[in-house]
Amino acid sequence: GGDEDEERDGPTGVAYEDIGGLDEELDLVREMIELPLSEPEVFAHLGVDPPKGVLLHGPPGTGKTLIAKAVATEVDATFITVSGPEIMSKYKGESEEKLREKFEEARENAPAIVFFDEIDSIAGKRDDGGDVENRVVGQLLSLMDGLAARGDVIVIGATNRVDSLDPALRRGGRFDREIEIGVPNEQGRREILEVHTRRMPLAEGVDVDRLAARTHGFVGADLESLTKEAAMTALRRARRGGSGEKIEFSELEVTREDFEAAMASV
Ligand code: ATP
Repeated sequence: GGDEDEERDGPTGVAYEDIGGLDEELDLVREMIELPLSEPEVFAHLGVDPPKGVLLHGPPGTGKTLIAKAVATEVDATFITVSGPEIMSKYKGESEEKLREKFEEARENAPAIVFFDEIDSIAGKRDDGGDVENRVVGQLLSLMDGLAARGDVIVIGATNRVDSLDPALRRGGRFDREIEIGVPNEQGRREILEVHTRRMPLAEGVDVDRLAARTHGFVGADLESLTKEAAMTALRRARRGGSGEKIEFSELEVTREDFEAAMASV
């Protein structure tokens, strides 16, 4: 509805209610990030430095990006994404320049979150990397060190392979907090399925609990695909059954059989 859509605006369009499971992980992230962004003065008052960087690590599709975006929404922070392909350039100095621009943009629009997707692809161990990689890691280190202790710019890195990051990045004053975002258990899967079926017209007989029990090993992204595929199956069924052009969608529901078909195909 309209009200809900308004709430969902914000810098990223993702809210805490869009995240299934991960309650404890989310609490940790909120504790580390919300306060420095919204009330940086508290840290100065206490005489401690606020965290500058947080690493979210775990398998692909588990919600790392979602968490970062939802925190930005909550504190109304500017959300700036940095991705490997966008930054990495073979032209000397260009990657570093782009990184500096991202941090500059963050400072100018603070409070801000700078989010590095797959940070291992741009900040791997310098011993293993080529020239560009080494320079980018060096630049990132100096940009993070240069972040004033004000706390209103926070860097979040997401990675599937935390061990392949350059160790200097994981030291104090840089990414010194690490939170593991793991594969969801049954309860987590149930909550994720609830998020993704929230707006779906589900037929009686669709049993989300049972689906959660049967999707061992699925991560959030897989569960999202499953619900989308079920919806598409319902749509195809309606088009086949219909007499012609127009789908009678007031009667269109996603059924248990649609989910069965989706289970077989994803
Ligand atoms: P990657 O390492 O591949 O970037 P990621 O951990 O950042 O993965 P997201 O981009 O956050 O994963 O998740 C991809 C999509 O999967 C999301 O847009 C969302 O639809 C769904 N998803 C993943 N995890 C969850 C979750 N915990 N709750 C609800 N949806 C989820």
